[in-house]
Amino acid sequence: MSRPRLMIPGPIEFTDEVMAEMARPTPSHVDPAFIDIFGQALEDLRSVFLAGPDYQPFILAGSGTLAMDSAVANLIEPGDSVLVVDTGYFSQRMADIVRRYGGEVQLLSAAPGETIHPEQLRQALQSQQVDVVTITHVDTSTGVLADIQGLAAVAKQEGCLVIVDGVCAAAAEELRQEQWEIDVYLTASQKAIGTPPGLGLLVVSPLAMAKWLGRTHPVGSYYSDWGYWLPIMEAYEARKASYFATPAVNLVMALATSLRQILNEGMEQVFARHIRLSNAVKAGITAMGLGQVPTGLEHAAHTLTCPRYPEGIDASFLAFVREEGAILAGGLHPAIKSEYFRIGHMGAVSRADVLTALGAVESALRRAGYAIEPGISLTAAQAELK
Ligand SMILES: *Cc1c(COP(=O)(O)O)cnc(C)c1O
Repeated sequence: MSRPRLMIPGPIEFTDEVMAEMARPTPSHVDPAFIDIFGQALEDLRSVFLAGPDYQPFILAGSGTLAMDSAVANLIEPGDSVLVVDTGYFSQRMADIVRRYGGEVQLLSAAPGETIHPEQLRQALQSQQVDVVTITHVDTSTGVLADIQGLAAVAKQEGCLVIVDGVCAAAAEELRQEQWEIDVYLTASQKAIGTPPGLGLLVVSPLAMAKWLGRTHPVGSYYSDWGYWLPIMEAYEARKASYFATPAVNLVMALATSLRQILNEGMEQVFARHIRLSNAVKAGITAMGLGQVPTGLEHAAHTLTCPRYPEGIDASFLAFVREEGAILAGGLHPAIKSEYFRIGHMGAVSRADVLTALGAVESALRRAGYAIEPGISLTAAQAELK
């Protein structure tokens, strides 16, 4: 039985090898074979983020929001000044979490579909004292890609710690965590990392670990406190048994398999494949006469595409797309929610998948009454794929 392909911005389609790990009998969390798998996953997570051996990885049971909570709870102290580079829905969530832990938030906001340029950040940082800058690598609500290399360079020059929410970007968009001096890069299992939902993942720089160690207030969350988790991560990496709270054993096994598949492909190849497939989807969307939410292709994500509905079409057409073979997502950004839809193309996504999605969109648009020449998006996409 063929089923529609799940092509939303997470969860995504996972590989058969990853899903097989979910079906294995669950071992003890202190089984030597599992300890080795967990240790390997920690090492591989660093490699996927291109971070060196003195960077500290964390693999936690929870979603991407927990990874955000973990970074903020441990690194922000009451009264810290935090500048949130705001490119949409998930930047707003980061601001809420910072406020919850007593940080003073200043938003540097872009209109929906726009990005924030490094020079804008420099100006904002020169006019006030800021301790921490947060950036959303890919804002999943707008499809906007932030220039985290350029933004982090400015933040560092101004002496700020940099936290990047890479939930919709890690293992897809170019990331060189150590070279780009990103203090915390965080993500979740179910997006391009390619493992079912349920893990929050972080890699933390030595500088950020030092800020955490030097805290004067206790961490305001019990479960997120790195004081409990650091010894556990260190123990697993040293291939020793340890316990604070039971890890999501099968998910960790699935993650280890997925990280291996990503590293076997090679990070440069992974980045290049996402660009190629994204270019194909965007060319197909343009050929059908649809606009996109990002106001320029140079700041459009390669993990998802956010096409605007043409005249006379709304979210109800997504039911036709599903019947034609692909599950896509509606809009998310509150200001423009009803104006666009979202196609996820990240992780173990193939050229066949993007052609399936475009073909489904074409057929569904025709069924919904929008006249386009059959095959027009596929021709445009294939020109990018050759
Ligand atoms: C999906 C997403 C999140 C939230 O992750 P959950 O696993 O749903 O908690 C946060 N930030 C970004 C950029 C995302 O795409």
